[in-house]
Amino acid sequence: MKRLVLATNNKHKIVEIKALLSDLSLELLTLADVSVPDPLREDGTTFRDNALQKARAVHGATKLPSLADDSGLEVFYLNGRPGVYSSRYTGPGATYESNNERLLAEMRGVPPRRRRAQFRAIVVFVDRGVEEVTEGICRGKIAEQPRGTNGFGYDPVFLPEGFTRTYAELTFEEKNGISHRARALAGMKEILIRRMNLG
Ligand code: IMP
Repeated sequence: MKRLVLATNNKHKIVEIKALLSDLSLELLTLADVSVPDPLREDGTTFRDNALQKARAVHGATKLPSLADDSGLEVFYLNGRPGVYSSRYTGPGATYESNNERLLAEMRGVPPRRRRAQFRAIVVFVDRGVEEVTEGICRGKIAEQPRGTNGFGYDPVFLPEGFTRTYAELTFEEKNGISHRARALAGMKEILIRRMNLG
């Protein structure tokens, strides 16, 4: 079976990506299975730069086809923040809880119609001489309070369009049916089938 390395250390992303790619005949490796520089650099100023950095580094070290996801939450009222700074919104010691607290504090008193936000995921595939990029967006708005315990990151504070529940109140399957990551990977699947000659 052909092998693809997932160029991420984020356990939650790995679980979601594995499920989303489970219908492809691929052996999915993670960074635990290969030898790569640690930590993976992601100091670009865009999701695309960061995803390219991660996928290129892993492909360079392993020579295997590599797939990276860089993603984050963009809040219109905050001019697109936290954006590429999503994981470290409260600085070097940031946690999911501290990031959500800061975001909700910044949104305190902001009326519903001005709470629009979107998750964006950029997925990059790198193999010998090949670089492919896809994007997925899920629109919604920022909740008043964190709700739900599923998922990770900003899931408890994000209400996807068409739902009255947050990402963290959706089941794993429901989130994977509509998420920014699922949308980016839907496009990437076609590319993987073609580029990797999958059955
Ligand atoms: P990255 O690993 O640098 O791409 O950082 C992604 C960060 O964006 C995560 O640490 C989360 O804070 C946030 N994020 C990305 N995707 C999701 C998601 O599906 N749910 C919740 N937060 C997410």
